[in-house]
Amino acid sequence: MSELFRDELDSLARQGLMRTLQHRSDPQGRVITVDGRELINFASNDYLGLAAHPALIKAATAAMARYGLGSGGSRLLGGGTEAHRALEETLAKFKGTEAALTFSSGYAANLSTIPALAGEADEIFSDSLNHASLIDGARLSKAQVRIYRHCDAGDLDELLKTSRARRKLVITDTVFSMDGDIAPLADIHALCERHGSMLYTDDAHGTGVLGSGHGAIAHAGLPTNTPWLIQMGTLSKALGLQGGFIAGTGTLCQWLVNRARGFVYSTAQPAALAAAALQALELATDRALLEKLWLNRNHLAASLQSIGIDTKPSQSPIMPIHFPDTESALRASAVLLEAGLYAPAIRPPTVPTARLRITVSVSHTHDDMLILADTLKALR
Ligand SMILES: *Cc1c(COP(=O)(O)O)cnc(C)c1O
Repeated sequence: MSELFRDELDSLARQGLMRTLQHRSDPQGRVITVDGRELINFASNDYLGLAAHPALIKAATAAMARYGLGSGGSRLLGGGTEAHRALEETLAKFKGTEAALTFSSGYAANLSTIPALAGEADEIFSDSLNHASLIDGARLSKAQVRIYRHCDAGDLDELLKTSRARRKLVITDTVFSMDGDIAPLADIHALCERHGSMLYTDDAHGTGVLGSGHGAIAHAGLPTNTPWLIQMGTLSKALGLQGGFIAGTGTLCQWLVNRARGFVYSTAQPAALAAAALQALELATDRALLEKLWLNRNHLAASLQSIGIDTKPSQSPIMPIHFPDTESALRASAVLLEAGLYAPAIRPPTVPTARLRITVSVSHTHDDMLILADTLKALR
């Protein structure tokens, strides 16, 4: 049995595509200790520096004292608590919807919700660079999946025009997780309205970052309480925790309670997480925190541009640095590591071509960014 995947692994290693695990011995943050080395962290999605925030830890500790740690069952079998209900009410307010429902991860939210929205007779329209969990959710749904060119509303329009499906569902990342660009949501929203399609937005990287923290739909100035708009978000990126959620109508959430398999057949999140998330939502609308994030983001974009690195198409704290091949991306990452900077190369099949995916957070200093830019400059 141990031989079964050996050849495949060897082949991955030869192509520079082998992935291995590294381990941190301290909290997520600006500086992390990975396998014994202290490194400035340019890889985390903890944009607001909340993952180890004392207020979140305090809220979680208090909730643990009240509810215990494990939830002991699915939401339908006694796993849910008052903390879950309070979080869902607050998430709905935060996203401007009637209701919200939490899942154990963003991945589970996408995998479970998409098949509850569309089935065999239906059509899904999916951006070519959508996140893996959206692709997998669409596949599980058994709907016909039609891929439109990345962020190309014209191409989507063509596909929607020719669709004969009874039910249509357009699916897109709001902020694309690997390139940091933002989908043309106003155009896509108008197309969905015109063609009678549902719109499913994955706001994993927009929540807590765009629209005064409320996310990409707020940022685009779109109405949030339209029945055919389904907003997915995560607690796991800017909110610093773990979990996913769907925000939409009360009817939609009721339907998901009945039909979303990753909700029905999976143990509820710990109440401590829900309580910490409530606290995170409060901090995520702090104007000063958000301003600092965007100041840092724009500062880093400017420093990279000044050394001739094109950060386009990024419009967010996620900035890709592209390399001609996997080997040179790996080498760049190794040089950064040597300089005390943590930014692992992102390789196929996660992305079509290898790159460094630099993420910037509120906690980075200008010195951190200077070291990054200087090291990258010496590489060129
Ligand atoms: C991270 C991510 C997810 C999955 O969320 P988790 O909470 O990490 O499971 C889904 N969609 C996008 C776009 C993401 O970046």
